Amino acid sequence: MGLVDSPLCRKCGAGEETSAHVLCECEALATLRHIYLGPFFLDPENVRDLSLRAIWNFFRRTGLL
Ligand SMILES: [Zn+2]
Repeated sequence: MGLVDSPLCRKCGAGEETSAHVLCECEALATLRHIYLGPFFLDPENVRDLSLRAIWNFFRRTGLL
């Protein structure tokens, strides 16, 4: 009941929880992003330069999967 009623990000509540939001712009994940991917915030254009392993590790640590 209501588990996926809201499209809002479970981490920051300030944006829609899309993969682009989580990967590139979620403020609540800036530190985790910095640790695993380098920058605090990403431009979607730069995602293709990241390794799949780094992206996977990041997503696993977000706890959103
Ligand atoms: Zn967010």
